[in-house]
Amino acid sequence: MTSEIDYTQDERKLATYLNTLAALFAVSGLAVLILPYALRNAPFFVAPPFFVTNTIAGLWLMAYLSWCSAADVRRYRAMIAVVFGGLLIGAVSFVALSVRTGPPIQDAPLLIGFGLCAAAALGLAWFVRKAQMPAPPWLPWITDKPTTGAETFARVVFGLFGLASLFAAAGSVLASYFNVALMTDLLVNPFMIVGSAIKIGVLGLCALLAAYDPRRFSQHVQMIIALVAGHAGSLIAIAIVALSGYAPFGDYSLVVGGATVGLGVIMFGAWLLDVVIIVAFLYFNRRINLALLDHIGFLNPTQFRALEAIAETLVAGKMHERVPPHEIVLRTDSYMRSFRSNRLGLAKLAMMGLQLSPLAWLSPPITYMHPAARARFVDLRFKREIVDTSALYRFFDGVMRAINRVLLRFTGRSGSELDAALSFTGMLEAMMRFNMQLTYLGYYNNPAVWPKREDGSGIGYTPFSQREKTFEVKPIRAHPPLTVMTPTILDQEGIDVIDDADVVIVGSGPGGAILAEQMLEKGRRVLILEKGLYVHPDDFSEDEVDMISRLYSDGALQISQSLRFTILQGSAVGGTSVVNNAVCFDTPQRVIDTWNARSSSGKVIDDTAYFDSQQKVRARMRIKKIAEGTRKPLDAVLNHGDSLITSAVKSYFAGREDAYEYDVVEANIVDCLGCGYCNIGCKYGRKLSMLDEVLPAAQHKHGADNMRIISEANVTQLTESSGKITEVHAVVTGGRKLLVRNPKTVVVSGGTIHSSWLLMQSGIGKANKLPIGKGLCFNMGSPLHALFDRKVTAYDGLQIAHYLKVHDHPGFVYETWYNPPVAQALTMPGWLDTHFRNMQNYDRIAAVGVLVGTESNAHIVPALFTGGPDVVFQPTQGDLNKLVDALVILGNIFFTGGALEVYATTRRYQPYVNQSAVLRAQSQVDALRDLVKHDYDILLGTGHPQGGNAIGTSPANSVIGPDFKVFGYSNLYVCDASVFPTSTTVNPQLTVMTLAHYAAQFVQ
Ligand SMILES: Cc1cc2nc3c(=O)[nH]c(=O)nc-3n(C[C@H](O)[C@H](O)[C@H](O)COP(=O)(O)OP(=O)(O)OC[C@H]3O[C@@H](n4cnc5c(N)ncnc54)[C@H](O)[C@@H]3O)c2cc1C
Ligand code: SF4
Repeated sequence: MTSEIDYTQDERKLATYLNTLAALFAVSGLAVLILPYALRNAPFFVAPPFFVTNTIAGLWLMAYLSWCSAADVRRYRAMIAVVFGGLLIGAVSFVALSVRTGPPIQDAPLLIGFGLCAAAALGLAWFVRKAQMPAPPWLPWITDKPTTGAETFARVVFGLFGLASLFAAAGSVLASYFNVALMTDLLVNPFMIVGSAIKIGVLGLCALLAAYDPRRFSQHVQMIIALVAGHAGSLIAIAIVALSGYAPFGDYSLVVGGATVGLGVIMFGAWLLDVVIIVAFLYFNRRINLALLDHIGFLNPTQFRALEAIAETLVAGKMHERVPPHEIVLRTDSYMRSFRSNRLGLAKLAMMGLQLSPLAWLSPPITYMHPAARARFVDLRFKREIVDTSALYRFFDGVMRAINRVLLRFTGRSGSELDAALSFTGMLEAMMRFNMQLTYLGYYNNPAVWPKREDGSGIGYTPFSQREKTFEVKPIRAHPPLTVMTPTILDQEGIDVIDDADVVIVGSGPGGAILAEQMLEKGRRVLILEKGLYVHPDDFSEDEVDMISRLYSDGALQISQSLRFTILQGSAVGGTSVVNNAVCFDTPQRVIDTWNARSSSGKVIDDTAYFDSQQKVRARMRIKKIAEGTRKPLDAVLNHGDSLITSAVKSYFAGREDAYEYDVVEANIVDCLGCGYCNIGCKYGRKLSMLDEVLPAAQHKHGADNMRIISEANVTQLTESSGKITEVHAVVTGGRKLLVRNPKTVVVSGGTIHSSWLLMQSGIGKANKLPIGKGLCFNMGSPLHALFDRKVTAYDGLQIAHYLKVHDHPGFVYETWYNPPVAQALTMPGWLDTHFRNMQNYDRIAAVGVLVGTESNAHIVPALFTGGPDVVFQPTQGDLNKLVDALVILGNIFFTGGALEVYATTRRYQPYVNQSAVLRAQSQVDALRDLVKHDYDILLGTGHPQGGNAIGTSPANSVIGPDFKVFGYSNLYVCDASVFPTSTTVNPQLTVMTLAHYAAQFVQ
């Protein structure tokens, strides 16, 4: 990290000098504003109020320019020149006033004023001359496209404004040369005349620069914003003086066209002029910004520049950086514009929050800062002061807690949610994490950063299409393509109402799809409404960002209310099965026992029938241990980090073989090619997802009329009448509204969170107070990364390939795990330079994920600002302890297997180094127990949310009965992961599919 600013000693002095000037100007402006009222009748302040407010604005403008230019003296040389110009205007004006022979004015300030301006200007010239000024280390990007009409127009306007301003500045001083009686009163105070001239003159200089090169002086050096700031200062000063009264300044009036214009009118006119100029200049600034950034689709120009500057800081290996920051942001922008999500607003807020955050420490916004100062600021305020919480942050945490307490009371929620609410430090951390995610999406998705070069730079990633192969890569398409009604087809056919629906299923994931297939087998007709896109596997690509935006719910930005817990879910025809790893575990008997134990009146699940369904699903989905097929040998198919992990596990448990179970995973994958892209969709038809297998097979067998699928149809409301759902309302992409009237049966299979949300939004179960959206649980995950002394290329091969269970720790499971670059960057431990360094070792790192089944203590509430569902969750201490236990064991396994370093995703970044003394390394990993005391101490997330509509025998603690029917409703069912009363700990999709198969017998 370039934390040391590479300024020369003299440049630092220049910056300090500018900051000192800024402080003096700002304080002087305040003094001129306050003192006339504090020292009533002091003759010094007798002056026309419009000169006084101009002087205040002029001093503040000079303060602003000095303050901004001190942030990066190399980049803001032009701004320093303007400050110098302002001082010169002051000095020359004082001289001009002292040599004139006109009406009498105060003499004393002339000398003082001249002395101050001249000394300040000389000082500035001296510091500038001494300072070495090479080119700035980094400048915001400017396109070289031809000048637009808007820019040409802006040039003319700024040019005219600049000339007029300089003329007016000169005029305000030279007027005193003319012995015009009516001006005698106005020209009484030279200090205020000069102050006014400085303001107008400096604005003129800024405008002329903007006219000279509108691109450079709006993007590199923000002169148009300076013009706006100058007028804003004037506007504020006028407003304060108007509100405080004109008494200290005397009574003034002007005669215009024979009419006498009073002071109030003059000041209002000046104020109005400021407003008009501000609006006009902001408009021009926007037009120039838009002309330069006309290709961005989601971010606005300010956000673009903010993220560009942040990306410049976050991708910290300056020597080896391969992608300029603007290219990173252009990619991020195209990702963000490609999907709809109410979380996108949060991402924008995070960008702007970070951009403006330096103001709290009296520094200019992020985009103005010298890159090294920016890096230092981000590191200090967004990491170090969070890790070792500073007194200030503790104070704000307390304030935020008090606000949360009031909010909870106000919204009628329980005070026990307080710990799961957003804290001040949590907010800063989340702000940073959003910015990091958006940067890494744009950076690591760029092929330029993938190859490893001789100097060691690059992450060493080769996409599957470019890897050497001795086997044939040919997609298997076992069934004809699906027939799906997309919004375009609905538009073309003018479909608004569907009257003939038999079974309507909301959602097409494992729950919805398996149930649909079973209902078709029973002779029913099915209509599936799916809010995600329909993407044919032929259209899957290796572009992670593109696939994430198309296949994930909220573009993978879904996060809990505390902004500490990421919740990944798919959203597409086929549901999360399109992006999952297809790993299958039988439902543990203890899980079914726990579910049954919740009932005091008979079994919730009939074990025999349930496990019979499980066997049928296993056969249907061809669930087997991964075996070699087209690609040989098996080790080549599996995650290439696994051979190291396998030998590490064996060494660690040597002599304790009955203490653990370690094996290749079972999955609904056949003849895997080991491309490593399960999480962005299997292009090759080897993963038997709902999209590849269940939906097309069922539709092919039963006909597209009997199995209709409508994609991009977001079901927003279920309408009931006397306990029966009579209408299903959906909004289709593009805005079309779709109504399904009088369906016989409605099954909600939108997955955890979204199924509960739909029921909550529809007011289902309100009357009998069903616990909808309560009791959510997760397989909470956190990975451990291990660096080896050789190339591991863990990205090559099946992402999750082995599992490990430790028998005396039934609360967690391990799975080997690795990702293509973007996904890996999002969880790679480290911060700024350490993150960059770890990513440079991407091909030497292996990782294992830990899954802990949490207690069912989360619930859903309406999100306060963004709309949609918010998950309130804080892991219990017991769950957190299980996770840490698991990580410590895993760390020791890695070291036994020869890992050089081990990294956890802890808030306090800490690499654990194997110094060949294994015992020493092991005791280091034990330190994790001290490091992780709270959920904010470690990055947590899940791809396995469960619960929210628990199955059971009583409406007091369950939403659906053993027949999957919502209590109190005659034709409404829920069938998906949301019906789990407790978490499975093991991967849940086989349980979801089994439940769907089992539920079919009850659905009428
Ligand atoms: C990256 C990742 C990897 C995973 N890997 C594994 C694994 O290896 N093994 C495993 O067992 N599990 C895995 N899972 C979890 C597993 O995929 C899910 O538990 C399972 O898919 C849940 O099935 P479901 O039917 O409940 O919901 P989903 O599969 O989530 O399907 C719900 C569907 O409903 C749609 N929907 C939601 N609301 C509405 C609405 N209002 N209107 C219309 N449509 C709606 C959604 O768009 C979605 O397509 C993984 C999950 C992720 C995110
Ligand atoms: S690794 Fe995953 S995506 Fe690739 S072929 Fe195998 S199942 Fe398909």
